[in-house]
Amino acid sequence: MNTNRRQLLALAAAAPFAAFAATRALADGTACYDPAALPMSQKGLRKSLQFVELSADSTKRCELCAFYKSTAAGCGSCQILNGPVTSGSFCLSYAAKPK
Ligand code: SF4
Repeated sequence: MNTNRRQLLALAAAAPFAAFAATRALADGTACYDPAALPMSQKGLRKSLQFVELSADSTKRCELCAFYKSTAAGCGSCQILNGPVTSGSFCLSYAAKPK
């Protein structure tokens, strides 16, 4: 087996794990920001608004909310929280974007 074929097989074997890691990172916010590093004011506001990193309802998530501003693929900021969120997050202040 030549080196290129070995490298290709190694990449193919690792791809599902990389996709899983990326999905998990987006779900816990770490792809966009470090949730543990948020200031206490942010953590308190998120708790009071029952913020979750991954919405249980695919029709209600930050990227569909009027208060969401996209900053990068899968990442954005929230005008209510005044801080970073992921596109798939959700909180009680959700308001659908006008159509
Ligand atoms: S108000 Fe809530 S649902 Fe809307 S962008 Fe902010 S965190 Fe997401």
